[in-house]
Amino acid sequence: MSERDYIGYGAEPPAGTWPGGRKVAVSIVLNIEDGAERRTARGDRVDDLGAHWERHRVVPGQRNLSLESAFDYGARAGFWRVLRALREFDAPATAFCCAHALTPPIAAALVADGHEIANHGLRWDTHTDLSPSEELAKIQSSTALLRELTGERPACWYSRDGISPWTRAAVAAEGYSYDSNSFCDDLPYVDGELPVVPYAGDTNDSGLLSQFRTGRAFGAYLCGSLAMLLNDPRPGATVLSVGLHPRLIGRPGYVNALRTFLRYAAERDVWVARRGEIARYWRESVSNNRPQP
Ligand SMILES: [Zn+2]
Repeated sequence: MSERDYIGYGAEPPAGTWPGGRKVAVSIVLNIEDGAERRTARGDRVDDLGAHWERHRVVPGQRNLSLESAFDYGARAGFWRVLRALREFDAPATAFCCAHALTPPIAAALVADGHEIANHGLRWDTHTDLSPSEELAKIQSSTALLRELTGERPACWYSRDGISPWTRAAVAAEGYSYDSNSFCDDLPYVDGELPVVPYAGDTNDSGLLSQFRTGRAFGAYLCGSLAMLLNDPRPGATVLSVGLHPRLIGRPGYVNALRTFLRYAAERDVWVARRGEIARYWRESVSNNRPQP
């Protein structure tokens, strides 16, 4: 892992654009993790309330059936509603899949619709707590399981609670093409040998439980972000990542935020692409195109 770099591209980002001369690439990310959450019943210290709006009484060691059911909604109903919205606008996505949460029907649907399979770990494990050998074992077993379920080898790594100092070297050695554990830029960059495609915490439906409150506010924030990047006087290309969770955006009251955004993007000159395509095109074309002095 390289030293911390808070200079980055600075005032002179690469001048290159995306295919067709487009200025903005949109990456839709679907988090497939319902069933992979932390819970005391499987030996974790706490029940994970991540992206859930209700507090439930926790009885240590006992299954929290109500909390489980709120996550199950994503896999049982929400995922399919989101998939239909992506089909409606012909939008390819990248699925951050926890291997233990990826069910055979969801795996088959993602592959059939041409979405990219990325590795989101075996389940919600905190990789920063793991030794290098423990982490490698989890990387290898989740890779094998995802391959078995989808027939393809994931090229992208994204762990639930960020990465350890040795994660990137480990996933590079395991044949991964890029990592997404970063929030530091509007463009991909290289850390050591591994390209990184930064993700985003603000253009993310997890904010429906805090800053957005309504689907309408979230949809407006997504469209406003895209409008800004399309009109940004900054030279060169940028990426807008949109993070989605089927247990949230898949609710009937929220899904129109996604549909509004996809319609807005479809009506503009935007490259909606899988992250692997963005990483590849950036490496082969955009990154070499430095602005002329
Ligand atoms: Zn996630």
